[in-house]
Amino acid sequence: MNIVIFGPPGAGKGTQSKFIVEKYQLYQLSTGDLLRDEIKNKTDLGSKISSIMNSGELVSDDIVGNLIEKFVSNERYKNQIIFDGYPRTLLQAKNLDGLLKKYNQKIDIVLKLSVSLETVKQRIIERQSQEKRADDNENIAIKRYKTYENSSEPVIDYYKQYNLLKVINGEASIKEINSEISGLIEAMKG
Ligand code: AMP
Repeated sequence: MNIVIFGPPGAGKGTQSKFIVEKYQLYQLSTGDLLRDEIKNKTDLGSKISSIMNSGELVSDDIVGNLIEKFVSNERYKNQIIFDGYPRTLLQAKNLDGLLKKYNQKIDIVLKLSVSLETVKQRIIERQSQEKRADDNENIAIKRYKTYENSSEPVIDYYKQYNLLKVINGEASIKEINSEISGLIEAMKG
């Protein structure tokens, strides 16, 4: 199965992805992590995207599209991917469908974690002291939340239309969210 995990920054996508990866033996494809690796490794791409990422904007659909194709085309990960932080725009959602089709795959479920801006701010402040991410401070957090609000609705509507969308209360505890997600995945597998 392939899963999309969706939600604003600080919603817990990364934490929940890691849980799902372990429980269902999947591979986590985090476009944010891949992009941060490019910056860390000082690649040409890294130098192009660092200011965009640090300002809380989205990098171009083309750039992230290329990154995910490397993953989706790899037999090793076939039908075992959790997409964490991708797609974030309607074009990305459509590109993903096309790409999966090309490699005889599809999305089985889209998990949307909903959290308020207040919660996001709090979590980002906590994460900042633990992970020291360059794009984690309160102002950028707000900017990233707004970016999400501006681009997410068409993506949500897109997946609703295919009956793939499951909305989860991201304000609940990590454990509660774990078990809700497990329930949804088990129900989907039938
Ligand atoms: P994340 O770790 O998912 O919060 O992503 C961190 C940053 O990477 C975002 O604020 C964007 O600048 C960039 N990014 C990650 N995924 C995408 C995507 N699917 N489309 C565009 N930009 C992305």
